[in-house]
Amino acid sequence: MALRETAGERRGESGHQALTPATEEPPASPHKPAGATLVQAASTMNLEKAGGRLCGGKRASLPAARPFPVIQKVMASMAHLQEEKLRLQEEVVGLQEKLTARENDKLSHSLQLQGQVETLKAKLLEQAQEIGRLRSELQGCMDAEKHRDLLAAENERLRQEMKACEGELRELRRRQQQQAPCQDCAHLQENTELQERLSQLQREAEETRAKLAELDLEVQQKTNRLAEVELRLKDSLAERAEEEERLSRRLRDSQETIASLKSQPQQIKYIIKTVEVESAKAKQALCESQSRNQYLQEQVGMQRQVLKEMEQQLQSSQKTAAQLRAQIMMYEAELERAHGQMLEEMQAMEEEKNRAIEEAFSRAQVEMKAVHENLAGVRTNLLTLQPALRTLTHDYNSLKRQVRDFPLLLQETLRSARAEISQAIEEVHNTNRELLRKYRRELQLRKKCHNELVRLKGNIRVFGRVRPIMKEDGEGPEAANVVTFDAEDDAVLHLLHKGKQVSFELDKVFPPQASQEEVFQEVQALVTSCIDGYNVCIFAYGQTGAGKTYTMEGTAANPGINQRALQLLFSEVRGKAADWEYAISVSAAEIYNEALRDLLGKEPQEKLEIKLCPDGSGQLYVPGLTEFSVQSVEDINKVFEFGHVNRATECTNLNEHSSRSHALLIVTVRGLDRSTGLRTTGKLNLVDLAGSERVGRSGAEGSRLREAQHINKSLSALGDVIYALRSRQGHVPFRNSKLTYLLQDSLSGDSKTLMMVQVSPAEKNTSETLCSLKFAERVRSVELGPVSRKAELASWPSQEQLEGDSPGTSAPPGRGHASPSPGQLSSRAASIRRKLQTTGKLRPVPV
Ligand code: ADP
Ligand code: MG
Repeated sequence: MALRETAGERRGESGHQALTPATEEPPASPHKPAGATLVQAASTMNLEKAGGRLCGGKRASLPAARPFPVIQKVMASMAHLQEEKLRLQEEVVGLQEKLTARENDKLSHSLQLQGQVETLKAKLLEQAQEIGRLRSELQGCMDAEKHRDLLAAENERLRQEMKACEGELRELRRRQQQQAPCQDCAHLQENTELQERLSQLQREAEETRAKLAELDLEVQQKTNRLAEVELRLKDSLAERAEEEERLSRRLRDSQETIASLKSQPQQIKYIIKTVEVESAKAKQALCESQSRNQYLQEQVGMQRQVLKEMEQQLQSSQKTAAQLRAQIMMYEAELERAHGQMLEEMQAMEEEKNRAIEEAFSRAQVEMKAVHENLAGVRTNLLTLQPALRTLTHDYNSLKRQVRDFPLLLQETLRSARAEISQAIEEVHNTNRELLRKYRRELQLRKKCHNELVRLKGNIRVFGRVRPIMKEDGEGPEAANVVTFDAEDDAVLHLLHKGKQVSFELDKVFPPQASQEEVFQEVQALVTSCIDGYNVCIFAYGQTGAGKTYTMEGTAANPGINQRALQLLFSEVRGKAADWEYAISVSAAEIYNEALRDLLGKEPQEKLEIKLCPDGSGQLYVPGLTEFSVQSVEDINKVFEFGHVNRATECTNLNEHSSRSHALLIVTVRGLDRSTGLRTTGKLNLVDLAGSERVGRSGAEGSRLREAQHINKSLSALGDVIYALRSRQGHVPFRNSKLTYLLQDSLSGDSKTLMMVQVSPAEKNTSETLCSLKFAERVRSVELGPVSRKAELASWPSQEQLEGDSPGTSAPPGRGHASPSPGQLSSRAASIRRKLQTTGKLRPVPV
């Protein structure tokens, strides 16, 4: 509907606009009708309108020149459309003609069918007459039995025929109802079928007639024969009657003669004599006559018998004939009834046929009407579609134009897109460069910020770790726990000393249940900063048996900071492998009695010297200190084992020795930024310090005293250095001990230091715990103030000063453990060294 309305409106518009050109200009071609020109003109107008509508702003961008080819094209397309319209009109006319032809066909077909019905009727009438005639012919026929059978068979056949006719009629009706598309063919076929059926019926009627004639003849013959027999019977009966009469008359005559003869005795005597004379003759004649009479009487009796039988036969024949007649009558009545039925059925069939024909006719008319309506619809559609077609043509033309211009536009667009893309790439490149620059700057900034943060937090941080109570602590009050923690502040711990609770505040406190992992979590930021080129020192401080070695080295199942730090370094380095190239190497050294020894060297007992670099950089180096390059955890384990073995070789009791010496693991991370060529070197110094416990001042002597003095000296020196660094003093007394001197680079400048103060919670270690915690607090409480303050502050307290309270006498746990013999260890060290060198993984690297 919408389409039609729109089309109607368009038609209205075009019609209105088409008036002017149509009146002004005559039709261009004599062949074209005036309407075509009108439509064409209207289309042109519409096209222009639609073009204006469709192209809109585009028109300005499309070339405005060349109007003539466009008009020519439009004209050509309009002419084409006109031709199309004419063709369609012709098609419509053709369709109409076809429709009328079909109607005529239908009409003639129905007439034909009516004619066929008429002929069938006539045939039926003929058959009825024939039957009547046959009936009349059959009258008098004595062979009724056969006739009856024949008639019954005929009747049956006719019934079947009737049924077949009914079936045919039904089929005909059904076909008419169905109105098959190939109606003509179906009717023709039906006609031929009916004609065939009719001829068959005729043939059958002919045959019946012939049969009837034969039967008639037979009956006639039989009737004649019967009449003859009857006639003969009558004749013989008459003959017999005559003979009888004659004989009885002769008898009577003879008897009369005898009587008359008896009454005349003379005569009779004479006669008797004569008769006697003649009697022999007479007697003979009499005898003859009597025998003859006898014979004749017998004959008469026989004849009478025969007559009687014949009469009986006649009677039975007459009876049978009467019965047959009655039967014939009955059959006739039945035939009559059947005929009536047949007629009625024929009538009904006829009516049905007529009705079917009428229905078919009316349906055909309705269809015809519908077809007419459809045709009208098609016509209107055609009329309404024309403007739409015009618009479509216009759209198509404009699209064609656009398609033609498309490659140019595409090229243009591609060119501009390419330019834009290359510009964008350039911009992105620039932005990238800028971003990279900014990123680098940010990195620097981050580093600065990180440093600042660390500085603010303190480049020197102090953590406390309390080991759990152990079996070695013994039992009873001595092993009682004297260390408690603040539930809300993880930087505070309380120590029960002489019935009083002393509180200490550090940067972080790890309770006994804190795992190695948790401890490392807090340390790992320091470790990774080593990759960025910072020097880091992590010290484990505390009395022997407080857990220093456990924190630094840990156990095989639960490694400490050393192994975890190297693992972390490996994974971090792997993560940065795209941009950076890193080399990690390790050295292990020991400071015992202020002597520095290489734990990875061939000769561990050799004392090494710390010297200034000859290049004038002011940096220190240890000539002869072995440095192994490591690439995996396995390498580290081998290095550690080697260091252990070397360390154990040189002492009788490793535990005791280790508690009296400082063990250093120096990890150097050298990096190269592939993009910038920037080189960084970071050092991670992991130091397991000697036991901080005070050896009995009174009792110690000889080597024990020397050891104690050296340890005190070096730990005090470390305290002094840290103090000097935190208070930013101009002079930092690095040279006061081998340890601080060796770690000078890693303690000064931007370096970061962590002091992990290990304490035992057992009551018997309270005094040492107090000392360690005081040391920790003092290290931490050194204020990062202005330089001016440093004058106010006194120097770092000595180990004795740190005591504050009465010295503890408790012996550190773990001392005096049995160790392998030096001979065994030296051979093992040599074998590990061989292994390391042959694998080629560990090469001595100059510092
Ligand atoms: P140090 O090195 O200070 O002399 P150790 O590290 O040898 O002390 O520790 C002494 C004992 O205490 C070792 O048997 C160690 O396993 C154990 N130990 C120390 N700290 C802990 C802890 N946090 N958890 C469990 N056991 C510990
Ligand atoms: Mg130890």
